[in-house]
Amino acid sequence: MPRAGPELFPGMTDSVISVTNTTIMASIFTKIINGEIPCYKIAENDRFFSFLDINPVSRGHTLVIPKKETDYLFDLEDRELADLMVFAKSVARAIDSALSPMRTGVIVDGREVPHAHVHLIPIFKDEQKTALGHKVDVSGEEMERIAAQIAKAWEPSP
Ligand code: 5GP
Repeated sequence: MPRAGPELFPGMTDSVISVTNTTIMASIFTKIINGEIPCYKIAENDRFFSFLDINPVSRGHTLVIPKKETDYLFDLEDRELADLMVFAKSVARAIDSALSPMRTGVIVDGREVPHAHVHLIPIFKDEQKTALGHKVDVSGEEMERIAAQIAKAWEPSP
């Protein structure tokens, strides 16, 4: 994806570059938040959003994202990053309660989608592979059921 900058548009100011890049990037996750692309939604508040990963490495593999589009997780403001993780904790608790895994693991990669996100991966047994790319087969029907179960168990953080 091209990123606007002085080399593309000489003389462009930083604020124009920032607005332009936001428009150019409009990530697939922003389209999901806006309802332009369907998802198996789990939870949402005014700043964060959560839904099932379409290529799950485990039943209940969930993504947690800030609504404000930023590519790299560690470019988030401190407060935003901390609040994202607290939101992720509330979703992990819902996964734990709905699916009863041994625990829910956390992975951050971000090389595929340029919109900061945290993977929450329920771990059901010791020998389970959790690396991204180890896709398991989950039917659309089951994805719907799992998302509804987790959504029902979700309680917003106080
Ligand atoms: P990463 O950027 O951390 O490498 O991975 C991005 C993740 O987003 C992948 O696990 C991929 O399956 C997921 N993903 C990519 N496009 C979509 C989509 O349109 N819907 C959903 N639910 N997940 C997606």
